[in-house]
Amino acid sequence: MSLLQIERDNLGHILSIVMPRPSNFHAHLRTDTLMRAIAYDIMCWVKYLLVMPNTGPIDTVEKVVAYYYLLTKIAEARGLKPELIMTIYLTDRLTPAMVERLAKLPFKVAVKYYPPHKGATTGSGEGVPLSDVREGLRAMAEHKIRLLGHFESVYDKNGRELPHLEREEYFMLHEFPRLRDEHPELDINIEHASTALAIERVKEDSRGKTTCGFTPHHLFLTLPELMKKSWANHGRCMPTPKSQHNVDACLEFAASGDARAHLGDDTAAHLSATKQGPFDQAACGCWLPHSLSLYAMAFKRAGALDDRFVRFACYNGPDTWGLPRPLPEDTVKLVADDIHDIPEPTPVPEKNDVVIPLGWTKEQDRLKVGLRLFCD
Ligand SMILES: [Zn+2]
Repeated sequence: MSLLQIERDNLGHILSIVMPRPSNFHAHLRTDTLMRAIAYDIMCWVKYLLVMPNTGPIDTVEKVVAYYYLLTKIAEARGLKPELIMTIYLTDRLTPAMVERLAKLPFKVAVKYYPPHKGATTGSGEGVPLSDVREGLRAMAEHKIRLLGHFESVYDKNGRELPHLEREEYFMLHEFPRLRDEHPELDINIEHASTALAIERVKEDSRGKTTCGFTPHHLFLTLPELMKKSWANHGRCMPTPKSQHNVDACLEFAASGDARAHLGDDTAAHLSATKQGPFDQAACGCWLPHSLSLYAMAFKRAGALDDRFVRFACYNGPDTWGLPRPLPEDTVKLVADDIHDIPEPTPVPEKNDVVIPLGWTKEQDRLKVGLRLFCD
């Protein structure tokens, strides 16, 4: 039996899709008023939710624990119970003793690497080069704590600042092989993979210790296409969208059903005020309450809206983490909808502002998704 139940009209158009509850292995839950405004939309459709640490940042065991219980309380108050996986920001304070404490927490924890340069992406600049934390990385391998990487090089070997378009590829060419060789037992996840070379790095590791997550937009959006849109600033993110060649490679691997690729949408809410002005000054990160619809659209384009979609969105992530898959009766539904497929902007009343979803606009060139998530 198919893992995906698709209802069609007599012309073959999709009316609805029922599928096992997906999991999201890369989400930014923010803090304070923004967190309270957006948390429900991120939590309502997932079984497992991996929470990123770049606001604050979350860089001590105490902060990880406090953030976990705060988010759990918010979920419970809204009648939701996603299982949270927490992350700690990789800094030079990550000692083997700290890794041991993380391993003993009553919930799962990973360590997140950010480029050690301010301005590389939202919340970067607190971290350290991977070569400065070898002891911590060895302890992580020993305690089976995963390294999640925002793998972009900001400068090349000669100190030249790299253009955004080249940063991930440069890291994969010049930095990743050393990391992989020095820590053969470390489980490494390449977050938001956006280049053909990142996918090569996953494929060439026949031991399966290298995995990757994909955002929805890196599966269908090229940078030249984005730049033509009225909503381009809302698609500005790091790593930046790439060329068609890279989009094709990402979509092919994600849609192959390969166990090493999973859903991690990198949803990252920013107040609309920070998304205005010239493109290269807009805050980095896309608001994606509709990410499941976007993934379904991309898989449909690839002719892979079948069991491969379920593996990518619902099974591969939990399998990688050694967590149980969703039960067969635990499902979510997408319905055909050309009008409300992109949710309305999320109000943040305390800030007198909104958070605008990727592709939403009042102009003519609104993104057409065609499917709407039913969150209940
Ligand atoms: Zn992120």
